[in-house]
Amino acid sequence: MEIILPENPKKYGDSLLFECNISNTILHEIANENIFLSDVLSAWSDVTHYLETQTSSKTIIWNNKDITSNNKTFFYKDWFERSIKYVDQLYDYRIKDFYSFDNICYIYGIPSNNFLKYYTLIKSIPIHIKSEINTNNTPCTQTTFVENILGRKNKTNKIFYTLQIKNPTENSKIQNKWQVLFGENELNWKHIFTMPYKATIESTLRNFQYKYIHRIIATNKYLYKCKLSNSNLCDFCSENIETIEHLFWECKHIQPIWNQLISFLKQHQLNVKLSFLSVSFGINSLKSIDCNNIVNFMVILMKYFILNMKYKKQVPNFNCFVHSLKLKIQIEKEIALSNDTLQIFEQKWNRIKFS
Ligand SMILES: [Zn+2]
Repeated sequence: MEIILPENPKKYGDSLLFECNISNTILHEIANENIFLSDVLSAWSDVTHYLETQTSSKTIIWNNKDITSNNKTFFYKDWFERSIKYVDQLYDYRIKDFYSFDNICYIYGIPSNNFLKYYTLIKSIPIHIKSEINTNNTPCTQTTFVENILGRKNKTNKIFYTLQIKNPTENSKIQNKWQVLFGENELNWKHIFTMPYKATIESTLRNFQYKYIHRIIATNKYLYKCKLSNSNLCDFCSENIETIEHLFWECKHIQPIWNQLISFLKQHQLNVKLSFLSVSFGINSLKSIDCNNIVNFMVILMKYFILNMKYKKQVPNFNCFVHSLKLKIQIEKEIALSNDTLQIFEQKWNRIKFS
């Protein structure tokens, strides 16, 4: 026999319902569509209620008739999908209180506009449930909590954890965002922040790279959100949403110029593979510091060039890039002249010859 689930269970998390302490309201609602399922759930909840020991620390948050606001139980599908299921997952054993909203966002990747959802839920958890977690003798310590996170499929949590533990002073939302984007590659923030200062002495490019690192780039995705653009689509291809990733790397009009840059570098004995990671934050893999600096100069300039072409709504072309490269090298030369560092300039740029 096949049971076709009505719409209602989906609203409450499908098979999650079998783990919940469901209220009669939800049972009635489900009974309206499927009396059989409602009976099964009711019997099931009676059985599990008697089986469960009172000392269990795993109090489920969702559809729990003991946790209600205006007589309604909770189910936040997006939170559940981020593996939040039990009350103790919201609890910080170190401070014996629930995590702050910022921490919840940080640990589970909850969007920052969810504050009201967070606040309503936390306020609705009755004091007896909270004190049960607190006084519970089951070894659910902070460590096991963190291990729980690490054991889950969701890699984001692992990254947040790594950042939080290994780099406590240097974690910002922006760094997390980049780290999530680049997944497995652990980002070297010291390299990322110092790279623009090593790669160029020219302040426009340094400033641009600083903004790029902090994702202060007015893409159409952002402008559209602020109602400052009529469309969120890419100015070059008009096919995809113009995110930073798309604009500077993925776009079909942008990939060719990066390939041309690879060939150009190869002609000057600079063999590099470019990826979105290396064009974003530069490379460190070549033998000589000067070679790394040249490549890093070029990836900053290329992104700067792409952004300017976006403002002009013109598809970037490699010859125009070479033209702006010549200009920027000339500016570096003039700065070097006035700083009396011409020797350093020549040592850096001597391998780049324009035909
Ligand atoms: Zn595009």
